[in-house]
Amino acid sequence: MSTTILTVESFVVIVLVEVALAAYFLRLGSCWAKIGNVGFFRAVWAVVAASIVSWIPTRLLPQVPVGGVGRTIVVLVLQLVLMFGLTWFVIARVLKTGFWRAAWAWTATLVPAASNILLVVVIVRPYMFEAFTTPTNSMAPTILGRHWEATCPRCGSPAYATPEPNDARSPRPVLMICAKELRSCEVANPTSVEHRADKFLVNKLISPRRWDVIVFRYPADPTIYYCKRLVGLPGETVAIHDGAVWIDGKRQSPPNGLDKIEYLDQIAGWPQRLWGSRSMPAKLGPGEYFVLGDFSANAMDSRLWQQGAPGHPPYAVPESYLTGVVTHIYWPPSRWCVLR
Ligand SMILES: [Zn+2]
Repeated sequence: MSTTILTVESFVVIVLVEVALAAYFLRLGSCWAKIGNVGFFRAVWAVVAASIVSWIPTRLLPQVPVGGVGRTIVVLVLQLVLMFGLTWFVIARVLKTGFWRAAWAWTATLVPAASNILLVVVIVRPYMFEAFTTPTNSMAPTILGRHWEATCPRCGSPAYATPEPNDARSPRPVLMICAKELRSCEVANPTSVEHRADKFLVNKLISPRRWDVIVFRYPADPTIYYCKRLVGLPGETVAIHDGAVWIDGKRQSPPNGLDKIEYLDQIAGWPQRLWGSRSMPAKLGPGEYFVLGDFSANAMDSRLWQQGAPGHPPYAVPESYLTGVVTHIYWPPSRWCVLR
């Protein structure tokens, strides 16, 4: 089954169950608040309308520029007042009752709300889906962290780079990656407007395959999550030369679109030899994986790691460190993409 159908189906089921439970409890609350007999579909309509309307302040208020603790607290309080106020107002209108009576009836929906949070924390996030962003651009242009955008001097397509801090900006051209050619290019003086990072969805139900983009814990510091492309599987020997990945001596053909990526076995300014270079092929043991970034000239991936997980070589991601497979970029909408 396609991951898009699986993901959409799972979310639709979760949302339907949430709405049905909230409507059921709103009916119970209505009896309790002596509003009278509220039909199930009227309760569903009240729940849906209240959710949509009360969602607006949570989207708009964070756009207010915040400075200092005082203003943050004011914005937070305003957000809560608006959220609850709008919820109760909408429920009152739909159930044709008073504001405070609607608020009273609404308190019953806190029971399914708490159980939903529990469902997400205990089941959905650890075992099904989790949303991520990445702070770097080692997977650019496939997945972007916060980034600068410029025009590739060779072909005129967009090119991306991780923003340099203002005080550390060097006069040298910035190393970027071209979205069309999937190769690095140098851009002199890109405009330093920072663009936001992609938000992407990680699926924990499917098994990773070669060329999937995966999220995993960094072997040298398992508190940090990394996002890279999986190229080497357990038991394989990985070598990189002639711009390609070779597994057990066989050149690998990446899937459509990725064949333009030029994988590098040396990086300018990096003194050590790289894992996976011809002189240091990476031999993977059972349950070990080798990962590479798409922005090969600027990716901190298996090739460069100096310290491995306990009992594993530096370049290997142990199976127990895998979090899941990136299936969709979902935000911003202009970057929507199905990766698997
Ligand atoms: Zn280009």
